[in-house]
Amino acid sequence: MIYFDYNATSPLKPAVIEAMLPFYRDFYGNPSSLHRFGRIARDAVERAREQVAEVTGATPSQIVFTSGGTESNNLAIRGLADRFAAGAILAGPIDHPSVLEPIKALATKGWSITWLRVNDQGIVCCDSLESAIDSEFRFASCMIANNETGVIQDIPSIAARLREKNIPFHCDGVQALGKIALDFQALGIAFLSVSAHKIGGPKGAGALVIDKSVGLEALFRGGAQEHGLRVGTENVAAIVGFGAAAEIAARDLEKNTEHLNILRKQLEQGLKKLGSLILFSEQARRVPNTVMFGIHGIDGEMMVMELDRKGIAVSSGAACSSQSAEASHVLLAMGIPEEVARTAVRVSLGPENTASQVDRFLSEVNRIRSAAQLKATVY
Ligand code: PLP
Repeated sequence: MIYFDYNATSPLKPAVIEAMLPFYRDFYGNPSSLHRFGRIARDAVERAREQVAEVTGATPSQIVFTSGGTESNNLAIRGLADRFAAGAILAGPIDHPSVLEPIKALATKGWSITWLRVNDQGIVCCDSLESAIDSEFRFASCMIANNETGVIQDIPSIAARLREKNIPFHCDGVQALGKIALDFQALGIAFLSVSAHKIGGPKGAGALVIDKSVGLEALFRGGAQEHGLRVGTENVAAIVGFGAAAEIAARDLEKNTEHLNILRKQLEQGLKKLGSLILFSEQARRVPNTVMFGIHGIDGEMMVMELDRKGIAVSSGAACSSQSAEASHVLLAMGIPEEVARTAVRVSLGPENTASQVDRFLSEVNRIRSAAQLKATVY
């Protein structure tokens, strides 16, 4: 079996499992309890907070643990919006549904949304930012790295323009964490969403990194945990796992980047030799693990299913929308024609992948392509 779908989720790292197990088995205290059981759990949560702060370039007091990227994005967007009756929002059209849907819901409640323009490579056009920014925006949101194409936005320059106008800026950093260096302070943004399961941590853990000078309303009420911004008893074992994965991600970033750059080059060169290839966002700066491609005339979902029959896991777009037959909203926003967008296949590699797996993938794609083209000429 070959797993090439790391942007959907990644395998739990053995060291992460080891770090988590004692908190299921032995250290079951509630971090809010004053006794020894509670203190052990509290110390573990605070240690994880330091580890996540380190990998995101934040301070521990800026970390709010959540149940993952979706909750972090909702907390930032709905938490900011709840401070106002209504107003205007500036947002990226190629963001993840966990950003787009809460924003679209606000549009039904009287908020006005201005969507940033992206070019054919999936890069946010800064001229659209200049003209949009004159309006009165309550806040802005734009992802750092795209989950489908891997394109990295120029967040520091967008953030600098927004800061001049005092517009709080939220960034979804879920696909950037562990793939590029993140420095919350240097980015100059107000909120950053991250998730554990994309970096070898457990599902159901994430964080919102916050600038505490910007007010935010909590989504839930009922306790005082996480500065009152994410109340409810902490998922201690998952938070510990997130911390362990964050530490490994920071330690291995350089090594992984080098390894993934080599694999990606092998993959892209191999794909190009097959011909009839579309390499989406080829000219853009991208995270090193992601390649989105299509082969003219071959449906992306068909390719995914054929590869699955051969034991190779890839995706035809965002995992969250794999139930729907719609073409990728990311590619459509880039101006890619729908019939071309439907050919898209996303390969997202991870540190555990090897060159021989890439070779095997290339030969299977070639076989599927030849079979499809043969069928097309016979009928
Ligand atoms: N944001 C992006 C860019 C993602 O790719 C994902 C997951 O696919 C999420 C947010 C949601 O994160 P989670 O699965 O932790 O809720």
